[in-house]
Amino acid sequence: MSSKPTTKRTIPIMGQKYSIEYHANIKTDDKDEVYGDTDKGRKRIRIDLANNRGLADLKSTLLHECLHAILAQSGIDNMLTDEVEEAIVVALEHGLSPLVEFKSSIWNRIKPAKKLELEIDT
Ligand SMILES: [Zn+2]
Repeated sequence: MSSKPTTKRTIPIMGQKYSIEYHANIKTDDKDEVYGDTDKGRKRIRIDLANNRGLADLKSTLLHECLHAILAQSGIDNMLTDEVEEAIVVALEHGLSPLVEFKSSIWNRIKPAKKLELEIDT
């Protein structure tokens, strides 16, 4: 149960469109507050605007939920318990968050040097 979404967009996850909804207050069926959740069947990611404090939290939560969606689309989630999937997603979220930040992204400093080589400016 949650509020009506304030914004709805889509994001491509391994060839599938996932909707992204921003809600004022998401509660699980157990009345737990969450930062976000992913409905794999409906291909829907919900982000809670009240529990995420600031843009960095929002981005990190969106990345976290996208990782759940990627595991679902790849079928790998079926090989994992919920606890193991969450541990993997949390580790990847924290490891990848600094890499996908726009200004500090290492990806923005990669440029082709030769035909088959890449170099990274440091
Ligand atoms: Zn999670």
